[in-house]
Amino acid sequence: MSEVTINQVRAYTVRGGGADYHDQAEGHWIDAQIATPMSKYPEYRMTRRSFGLNVLGTLVVEVEASDGTVGFAVTTGGEIGAWIVEKHLARFIEGKRVTEIEKIWDQMFNATLYYGRKGVVINTISCVDLALWDLLGKVREEPVHQLLGGPVRDELTFYATGARPDLAKQMGFIGGKMPLAHGPAEGEEGLKRNLAHLAEMRSAVGDDFWLMYDCWMSLDLNYATRLAHGAQEFGLKWIEEALPPDDYWGYAQLKRDVPKGMLVNTGEHEATRWGFRLLMEMECCDIIQPDVGWCGGLTELIKISALADAHNKLVVPHGSSVYSYHFVITRHNSPFAEFLMMAPKADEVVPMFNPLLLDEPVPKNGRMSASALDKPGFGVRLNPECELARPYTH
Ligand SMILES: [Mg+2]
Repeated sequence: MSEVTINQVRAYTVRGGGADYHDQAEGHWIDAQIATPMSKYPEYRMTRRSFGLNVLGTLVVEVEASDGTVGFAVTTGGEIGAWIVEKHLARFIEGKRVTEIEKIWDQMFNATLYYGRKGVVINTISCVDLALWDLLGKVREEPVHQLLGGPVRDELTFYATGARPDLAKQMGFIGGKMPLAHGPAEGEEGLKRNLAHLAEMRSAVGDDFWLMYDCWMSLDLNYATRLAHGAQEFGLKWIEEALPPDDYWGYAQLKRDVPKGMLVNTGEHEATRWGFRLLMEMECCDIIQPDVGWCGGLTELIKISALADAHNKLVVPHGSSVYSYHFVITRHNSPFAEFLMMAPKADEVVPMFNPLLLDEPVPKNGRMSASALDKPGFGVRLNPECELARPYTH
C-alpha cells in the first residue's frame, strides 16, 4: 500500500502552442480557412482565431507528493481552468494518497456538477486526473500503460491530421484527415470546391491511402449527406464531426443516410460516460473520438472505452499525444491513433504539443514502438524555456 500523499496542487497557464494547439502564430495551416459553426458569418470565416479559437490557452497542472515526486499534465483551459483548480478542486486533491485517483475524480465531478458537466470544467478535471496518473506512475517508477494493464501490441500505427495528406503518405502514415474548407453558407460553389479538393488529393495519394474529412461541427444534415454521397467516388473513408455535438438526432440520421461502408465518426467535443452513452445508444457514429484531455481524463476514458467495447465501437482518441498513446497501446478496441501535424505547413513531423513538452515521442514512418513509451508516468517533462504563469494561488 502506498502511503505517499499529495502535498500540493498548482495550476499554471502558458501561451503559444502546447496543449492549446490552436494557439499558433499567423500562417499556420490550422488557422487557414476551415469550415466552422461560425462560418455563416463572413467576418469570422477566413480564420478560426478571428472568432477566438485560441482564447483559452494551455493549462498546466502540477501535483507534488510527500516524497517530493511531481506529476503534471497539460490541456486546454488556460486561466479559467487555473482558477477552478486553485479555488475549488485543490481541497479534493491535497492530503489524499497518490492512489486515490478514482475518489478524487468522483469528488471533483460531483462538486462541480452545478456549473460543470462539460466544456472547460471537464477539461480542467481531465488535466488534474492526467497529472495524478503521471504522479502515480512516477512514484511507482512505471509507465502509465503498465498501470492500465500493459500493451496489447508492439507498436502504434498512426493516421495524420493536417492540410497535406499527400505529404503524410510519403511520411509513412496510414491515412490523412483534412480540414473541410467550406461550409453550407458558401452554397453549391463551396460544396463543389470541397469535392474538387478531395478529388485532387485522391489523385495525389492513389487508391489505397485513407482520406477523411474533418468538418469541425460546421454542417447541417442535408449538406453533410450530400457531401458524403459526393465524396463516395473519391473513396472518403470517414466524415468526422459533421454536425454540432448536441445534435444526436442528426448524427443518427446521418449514419443511416451515408453511403454503405463510409464511416461517421465524432466525439472530440463530447464528455463523460453519459455523453458517450448517448452517442452509442442513439447509434450516432462508428468510431468514437474522445479527447482524453477534454472528456474527463484517463479515469473517465477507461469507462467510456469499456462502454464502447460492449457496443462494438472503436475508440480512436482525438489528438492528445502521450496522454492518448499510453491508453491506445493497451486497448483492443483502439487499433490505430491520430497524429496532429503541427508543422505550420504540415510538411514534417514535429511533437504535437511543441514546444511545451520535452521527450515527447513522435511517430517514425507512421509508427511508434511501445518501448518509446517505457518511461515513468507519461514520460514527458515540461520545457523550462516555456514561461509558466500562476495567475491564482490557494
Ligand atoms: Mg476532429
